[in-house]
This record gives sequence, C-alpha cells and structure tokens, in this order.
Amino acid sequence: MEHNERKKEMSPAERRRRMEAKRRRQEALKRKKRKRMMLIIGMILGALMIVGLIVFLITKFVSGGSKTIASKNGTFVIALDPGHGGEDVGMTAGETAEKQVTLDICAKLKVMLESQGCQVVMLREDDSRMSKEERVQSANTSGADLLVSIHCGYSEDTGVSGAISHYKKDSKQSAYLAEMIEDALVKESGTSDGGVKEGDYSIVSNTEMPSVLVEVGYLSNDGEAQSMADDNYQNDIAKGIAKGIIMSLEKSE
Ligand SMILES: [Zn+2]
Repeated sequence: MEHNERKKEMSPAERRRRMEAKRRRQEALKRKKRKRMMLIIGMILGALMIVGLIVFLITKFVSGGSKTIASKNGTFVIALDPGHGGEDVGMTAGETAEKQVTLDICAKLKVMLESQGCQVVMLREDDSRMSKEERVQSANTSGADLLVSIHCGYSEDTGVSGAISHYKKDSKQSAYLAEMIEDALVKESGTSDGGVKEGDYSIVSNTEMPSVLVEVGYLSNDGEAQSMADDNYQNDIAKGIAKGIIMSLEKSE
C-alpha cells in the first residue's frame, strides 16, 4: 500500500531521472552488441587472412609453386663449374682433354650470361685442380641462385653421341632448368637429345641452389670429340646453355 502510494507520488524530477537511467541502460546494451559484432567481424577477417596465408604458402612451397628461379638480391648470380682441372684431365680423345673443353665452354658461357645482365661466379678460371668438396663449398658460399656444371660424356659404345642434362633430385627448379638447357642446347648445336635425368653427382646433390650437370657431348665419339674441340661448336653449345638458363629465370615484373 505504502509502495503504491510512493509510486503515485513520483516527482517529475524522479521520473526524468529514471527515464534517463533507462536510456543509458539501452545505450550501454547497444554498445555491447556493437562491440560483440565488431569482435565477430574481426575474428572472421582474421580467419580469412590465415586461410589466405596458408593457401599462399601451399601454392608457393609445398606444391613447388614456381618452376622458375628467383634472384636473391635483384641480380641473377650464376655459378659455373668447369669439370676437372689440373692433373685431373677428365676424359681424353687424342689431344682433346675434357678439362679444357669444359673450361672453354664455361668461359664463353660467362661472357654470354654477363651480356644478359647476370653475374657469373666461375668455380675455376684456370687449369687448377679442385676437389669435389672444394667445388661444393665454393658454390655454397658464392651466393649463386643456380649452378651449372659442365662435363663431357663417355661410352664404351663409340657410336653414342648427344647431350644429357642431369638435375638435382627432388628439385622442381633443377628439373625445369635441365629441360630448358637440354632443349636449347640441342636446338643450337644440332646434337642429339639425350634427355634429362636425375643425377647423384656431388656438385648437384650437395649444393644448396638449383643445379644441373650437363654432359655436352661424348668424347668417346670421334665426330663429337672433334666438334667439341672446335671453337664455333663450343660457341653453339654455350649459346644453347645460356638460352636455357635465361629461360629458367623468374621474369621481374
Ligand atoms: Zn667429367
């Protein structure tokens, strides 16, 4: 009874105060709802960004992403490994020694690649002997984006001729580099296509960058041995390998 009476007796000031309080409660509720909404939107955006990042990483790394080779610092650095050297002459055919053929081709290749804006690191520039370990270490500390090692082939069957490109196992970029080199080398030199193969040579297996070992021709084949000692033929081979390397590089935007 007393209570009802008091209600009736509510002064206009009291009524205003209560209405004001009610309005504030409603606003606080609205703010709370808005905050919750923003939190949900934030969580959705965050989740979308994480999903996007995962998809990006999967396409880039897990599936191998790009087959082309990117440069680490803007300029492509290419390591060239002329096989053999010094007392290690490699295979020979008459006066022609593998160590000289590989050095000649790499020297020509160096000029061609540099004219395309690449930086070239030669693992040996003269007739000096290098161990396999020294070559691998030198390549790994060179900062090179890719490596190409040059050798000649040899077969008991003197009728066999042609070029073969061996790539690093489980490296999509190395396999692509080998395909590009093999293709352009065959086109430029006219030699027969020995295809691309997975190679387990230390210079491709133990180096950290995409790498390919090219057997440019058989010294066991008389005709090919003669060609490989010829300056023009060496030029064609170098031109093919240079083209293959350039094609395997990631184009800058
Ligand atoms: Zn060799």
